[in-house]
Amino acid sequence: CGVFGIYSHKDDVALNTYWGLYALQHRGQESTGIVTTDGSNMQVKKGMGLVADVYKDGVGDLTGHIAIGHVRYSTTGSSMAYNTQPLRVYFDGGNLALSHNGNLTNAAELRSRLTRDGVVFQTTVDTEVVLSLIARSRKEKVEDRVAEAVNEIKGAFAILIMTDHKLIAVRDPYGFRPLCLGKLDGGWVVASESCAFDLVGAEFIRDVKPGEMLVFEDDYAEPKSMMWSKEMPSKCAHCIFEYVYFARTDSVIDKQCVYQARINMGRELAKETKEIHPDIVISVPDSGTAAAVGYSLESGVPFMEGLTKNRYVGRTFIQPTQKQRLNAVRLKLNPVKSVVAGKSVVMVDDSIVRGTTSGKIVKLLKDAGAKEVHVCISSPPVTDPCYYGIDTSVRKELIASTHTEDEICQYIGADSLHYISLEGLKRSLSSMDPEGMCYACFNAGYPDNAEETIRQGSKY
Ligand code: 5GP
Ligand code: SF4
Ligand code: MG
Repeated sequence: CGVFGIYSHKDDVALNTYWGLYALQHRGQESTGIVTTDGSNMQVKKGMGLVADVYKDGVGDLTGHIAIGHVRYSTTGSSMAYNTQPLRVYFDGGNLALSHNGNLTNAAELRSRLTRDGVVFQTTVDTEVVLSLIARSRKEKVEDRVAEAVNEIKGAFAILIMTDHKLIAVRDPYGFRPLCLGKLDGGWVVASESCAFDLVGAEFIRDVKPGEMLVFEDDYAEPKSMMWSKEMPSKCAHCIFEYVYFARTDSVIDKQCVYQARINMGRELAKETKEIHPDIVISVPDSGTAAAVGYSLESGVPFMEGLTKNRYVGRTFIQPTQKQRLNAVRLKLNPVKSVVAGKSVVMVDDSIVRGTTSGKIVKLLKDAGAKEVHVCISSPPVTDPCYYGIDTSVRKELIASTHTEDEICQYIGADSLHYISLEGLKRSLSSMDPEGMCYACFNAGYPDNAEETIRQGSKY
């Protein structure tokens, strides 16, 4: 998912949120919503589908000086209208709205505890427990109530909360999901990725720190910062997949430029596959392109566009069911025969998750006359599920959890298959500490013991 928030005295918070969400569309295409407040009333516009469609009649009727927005890609809670965020409720402090990117690992346990206490839920989104926890806190200031609430939750979260007078941004202690702060002429913005700032003309200030809360209550003053977590881990665990696949290449997250990281991943792959001598290197657009360019720069093998992407098809992985994904590959990509026919091709992609995509594409390339197809993947084998908001959640669906690399190579019909090594991936991070990252989907090293938390939760 993607989140965007704004606090500004200029009367264009909804329009800026709309632009911000537009720039974050790659983070979720299932549904979107914007909530604004003018200090006493909250207004909501939500819907299923893309930003351009949901707000096609404009956002002019949403007024106020604070807004939060959301684009959704479902992990917990199905893809239904009632699960659309921001969530919005009333509590004894007035209006309350919330947007969440991430996934809570102890939501089942909290939900069961709250339900036994008489709390009712209107959605199946894990985040709804956070609203109840805030509403039930007996602290006086809303930021203290939020702090109390988020100290109860576990997992990954970049959360934006809006009351009638305040905007609050919270990042989990590991910093799994990104969140950054920007300055506007006349206010402040927070967003999942810095690419959203460029579109609204905001200046990037800094990343929100893992375990930090920012409270905005004045458009001219700096937001108040507090470290809210009672249990700060010794190391953070930023999600490596943001750099491999999820984030946009023009974003800088936790000081690391995403594009640069992907170029470096391609370079590392080229260094690790010196034994293959292809005529050309091609990418699976768009997510494999930067790494393919890096491969070409390092190896000297020319980069060509061997696959044309239909730009009007969304991210295939994010289609919720396997059948929808199968059809989507064919719809989305078509080989350029004159580029690949008779050639030995290196095909670079970012990841193999279920193995659906790569197999289809190798076949397309072979049918188009490619002599050899060597598949190079800019992430190690995905063997373990993610519990932190990337939808790779069932272990048995991950092809690398049940198959060796040779078996996968055979399954996808490639002449050879090469995954980047974990060490190579770490070296690709040129501007951040590679040890402060989460790599759990490659090695089950869940930094917060998520599997145990989930096992506990499954009792409820
Ligand atoms: P597969 O077909 O192997 O299940 O999916 C791998 C493809 O899905 C890659 O080309 C990758 O770009 C794309 N993809 C889309 N969304 C995601 C995601 O959330 N995580 C990962 N790892 N890959 C994704
Ligand atoms: Fe990211 Fe993988 Fe960790 Fe999930 S398990 S947060 S996808 S690195
Ligand atoms: Mg892809």
